[in-house]
Amino acid sequence: MQHFFVEPGQIFEKEKKILITGNDVNHIKNVLRMKIGEELSVSDGQSGREYRCGVAELGEDEIVCELRFIKEDNVELPAKIYLFQGLPKADKMELIIQKAVELGVYEIIPVATKRAVVKLDEKKAKSKIARWQGISEAAAKQSKRGIVPNVRPVMTMKEAILYAKDMDSKAIPYELAEGMQATKDWIASLAGCENIAVFIGPEGGFAEEEIEMAVESGICPVSLGKRILRTETAGLTTLSILMYHLETEGI
Ligand code: SAM
Repeated sequence: MQHFFVEPGQIFEKEKKILITGNDVNHIKNVLRMKIGEELSVSDGQSGREYRCGVAELGEDEIVCELRFIKEDNVELPAKIYLFQGLPKADKMELIIQKAVELGVYEIIPVATKRAVVKLDEKKAKSKIARWQGISEAAAKQSKRGIVPNVRPVMTMKEAILYAKDMDSKAIPYELAEGMQATKDWIASLAGCENIAVFIGPEGGFAEEEIEMAVESGICPVSLGKRILRTETAGLTTLSILMYHLETEGI
């Protein structure tokens, strides 16, 4: 079933009506060629509720949907995961964003670390962020997320560490970290955390001084095992471990 995001002001629960506007109107009418009565689902991007609807009117600039029922069970993880991703080469960021959204990430922050090969000037960064946000929205629709994870503007490592400063739990997967005990202890410490920061280096890894700066700021180096993972694997591995832990907590 197709999934769309609308602003909260487009949802009229009492009147059992939801309005879809913008680019999705053309997509519904001319790409998906949806018909009156066909079912679709809608989220407001904040409440985590899923509104199951039927197409009622195919207007010029808006689709009127008849609200059939509301699915309350929130699909979002019980904690917000912030993925600080060292800028990777080529279009790897698109894969990372798509998979991170499927795994429940809350926000993705591209980080221009010292060893990141990719250097984005302001203009390029702006168009990249717009493209990456589109990837996030498409993945959120496909995975029926309750929200569309935000892709923030590129930060320096210093800015990223500052942004993460007050988060409840912060870790930096580091291939030179000693053994899995610290990883196990970190995961065990997540109970009750509302926001979790994860820092992943680019292909060249983190510079020594970046690791030092992170540790000084209370970000805990953790191992992801004895093998060296690609940057795109490391973030998704960490998100998978967190998703499993957060979803099974209290079972
Ligand atoms: N320095 C690495 C090397 O020797 O090839 C390159 C960095 S690795 C390709 C990219 C990032 O993935 C690292 O900065 C780290 O964040 C994460 N990573 C990869 N393997 C890891 C491991 N075994 N444990 C923890 N983090 C790992």
